[in-house]
Amino acid sequence: MSIEEDVMRIQKKLTKITSGDGGQEQALELLKALQNLPVNLEILTKTRIGMTVNALRKSSTDDEVISLSKTLIKHWKKFLGSNVSKDNSTPPSSSNKTKSKSKEDRKDEEKKEKPKQTSFPAVNNTTDAVRLKCRELLLGALKIDGNEQEGCAPVEDLAEELEEAIFQEFKNTDSRYKNRVRSRVANLKDGKNPQLRSNFLAGAISAQKLAVMTAEEMASDEMKALRNKFVKESIDDAQLATVQGTKTDLLKCAKCKKRNCTYNQVQTRSADEPMTTFVLCNECGNRWKFC
Ligand SMILES: [Zn+2]
Repeated sequence: MSIEEDVMRIQKKLTKITSGDGGQEQALELLKALQNLPVNLEILTKTRIGMTVNALRKSSTDDEVISLSKTLIKHWKKFLGSNVSKDNSTPPSSSNKTKSKSKEDRKDEEKKEKPKQTSFPAVNNTTDAVRLKCRELLLGALKIDGNEQEGCAPVEDLAEELEEAIFQEFKNTDSRYKNRVRSRVANLKDGKNPQLRSNFLAGAISAQKLAVMTAEEMASDEMKALRNKFVKESIDDAQLATVQGTKTDLLKCAKCKKRNCTYNQVQTRSADEPMTTFVLCNECGNRWKFC
């Protein structure tokens, strides 16, 4: 059987699962099988398997299925940006848990091929040196206090999202773009304004919003008020309901991007220290701290 036929066979089954006919476990198996096939540009174009996997990703609620779909799509998108003739039989890089002998080889190949590619159409995926540097700077600003909590928002994703939002406005990396990045970095690092970072990390302000805020807006009392809103409401609510916490659509889950969270206040240390706000995503169960 040819690779193309293989892909199409898997595609048929995935389409069924997407339309609600089949389990996520089977989907995961099929994705793993796809990952092991040497899919090239020709097969991608002929079968349009990328769209099938993307549809599955959107319809799925299973973390593993979503993450492996993303990995595959990310890998395939590279073909669209690179020359058609070269590197078109590299197997997908595996960021999933399955170990394979050639994993290290693949990593090496990826590293080697990266600098040759200059632009991708893919969102959140770039090899542009300036953009990568800017992501690094934003990431550094987000990680400034160094105590990244377990289960907290994936800071890398947030840094990428923010850079992407800024890039989308200018569509290039000229001085306006750089200034915009620079001012976000400075404000996120500002020790007098920790609220900006907490609000962004907790999902109270989106990357799209932070990307366009003025210096005044970033340093405003509103930023503090937004942070304090979650403190105050919980205290009020604590007198009414106790265990179930407060539901809100103001916080966005960094994992599933939905705004359906519940938060709770806990006095972690002594009574004169500020309370910690714990956030739970009601959609995917992701938990993080509003710090
Ligand atoms: Zn979630």
